[in-house]
Amino acid sequence: MPDNPPPPSGAATRAPALARLRQQVSDLHRELVRYRLVVWTAGNVSARVPEADLFVIKPSGVDYDRLTPDSMIVCDLAGAVVEGDLSPSSDTAAHAYVYRHMPQVGGVVHTHSTYACAWAARAEPVPCVLTAMADEFGAEIPIGPFALIGDDSIGRGIVDTLKGHRSPAVLMRSHGVFTIGKDARAAVKAAVMCEDVARTVHISRQLGEPQPIAREDVDRLYDRYQNVYGQQPAPSADRGA
Ligand SMILES: [Zn+2]
Repeated sequence: MPDNPPPPSGAATRAPALARLRQQVSDLHRELVRYRLVVWTAGNVSARVPEADLFVIKPSGVDYDRLTPDSMIVCDLAGAVVEGDLSPSSDTAAHAYVYRHMPQVGGVVHTHSTYACAWAARAEPVPCVLTAMADEFGAEIPIGPFALIGDDSIGRGIVDTLKGHRSPAVLMRSHGVFTIGKDARAAVKAAVMCEDVARTVHISRQLGEPQPIAREDVDRLYDRYQNVYGQQPAPSADRGA
């Protein structure tokens, strides 16, 4: 044994974080089922591996109740498999494109959830007509371009639509929802909220024309929810509950 063993490699120091992310990504797929955002094997969650040009994503075509941490696939940012015995999700190239072009994004989710897809099929953005929508999305939920799977066009459509937009969700035309977040859990939350507001605004439409919220009120709601709402690490005296 040498007196001074070499420092651990990047892979060795990354191992605990990677194990946590495999578990988290596997668990978050169950949330897609619990909130009824997916049928059969459609839909997927991925998470960026911090300080590595890698992300964790589900394997393609495996039943949700058979997903395990060990069956998750690790890919590089070109979408090539680095660890895993199965093929990665067929949407891997789109996730990889987002991670390459949006460095602040730590998680990506894709679903074909019903009400959101109903808006996507009409190529109509969901208007910001509810305070919960202003909180989470800060604007309408936008429509992205029609794009076929097989190259970078879905990823490019997601990034081109969401860059410079507050919304963490895009409705890809005639296809479905892609959401982003600071981590995978935030992206799943955005997917859940996207379906919820798409449903409510759709129902409102059956009764008449939903009323828009003034832009300055949307701004105030968004700012408060993003910066004040919830459990703060160091609450200050002048901020309410
Ligand atoms: Zn899809």
